[in-house]
Amino acid sequence: MEILLNEIIDRNRHLIENGKVANYIPALAKADYRKIGVTVAGRTGSLLYSAGDYNEKFTLQSISKVISFLVAAMDNGLDHIFEKVGLDSTDEPFNAFTKLDLPNIHKPANPMINSGAILTTGMIKGDSQERFQKILELTRRMANNPYIGYDEEVYLSEKETGSRNRSMAYLMNSKGILDGDVEGVLDTYFKQCSIQVDTMDLAKIGRFISSGCEGIDIKGISRKDMSVMVKGLLFTCGMYNYSARYAIEVGIPSKSGVGGGIMGILPDGMGIGIFSPALDENGNSSAGIGIIKELSRRLHLNIFDDRKLQADLEAY
Ligand code: GLN
Repeated sequence: MEILLNEIIDRNRHLIENGKVANYIPALAKADYRKIGVTVAGRTGSLLYSAGDYNEKFTLQSISKVISFLVAAMDNGLDHIFEKVGLDSTDEPFNAFTKLDLPNIHKPANPMINSGAILTTGMIKGDSQERFQKILELTRRMANNPYIGYDEEVYLSEKETGSRNRSMAYLMNSKGILDGDVEGVLDTYFKQCSIQVDTMDLAKIGRFISSGCEGIDIKGISRKDMSVMVKGLLFTCGMYNYSARYAIEVGIPSKSGVGGGIMGILPDGMGIGIFSPALDENGNSSAGIGIIKELSRRLHLNIFDDRKLQADLEAY
């Protein structure tokens, strides 16, 4: 498997040149655009196959939306969440919010775009610090890594320059969609985006969801059903406005972030983590998309591809 991963990295490395490291959050611009890492987490606890810069740390950014959504669901139940936020895919960029200003719109499209994520983070019970602590603890549990922390510099950089996120939060506040301490909610959101991981952590988070969300207790829904729900949500909304094409071309429920990470949920308790910080025009990792596309095609991981691998993936 490592040989295959190295080969796929090499074949897709050139895609770095099509992308650009995010610079609208100034601290993210410091990332080395040449880094590329991949990890596939196998079914059994300790099995990890990695290649490239799998030890390199980067920030979760939008991938944290999956985790804050789970925490909010644990605190409120799913019905309550979807009273406030939609379950619709979107053709708009992740940070768009003009539609929210229309008189007939009372919900962000889904919890995986910024407005929806800020709203779900605000539904987590507790003050700003307690909310963040819950998100951090769940991240550590999902990745089975108690050492996960956050990048103070990225957090402060986004907090300082986050006018766009701030505007959408205040717009939601003015429409009565987001109540309470808006600055506190934004603070949690900026901090959760700056949680620091590597590709091994991401792959294990994917594995955690695939293998049934162990320990996630949500009123009215079994863990297995929650895992099915999260996969559906990411399949339709996880890659911003590229989600539909990605669903067809890759067919793996995934979530990306502007830090350059992609977390994929494979069937049968397996997961993928990819990192490469140069982003395409949708804010997804350029080389990361190439890598997961090729991995999906060669290992028949697209959920609509029924040419199942004869050999067990773990024995590859
Ligand atoms: N922190 C980033 C933002 O809010 C997250 C966006 C992303 O990863 N797409 O702009």
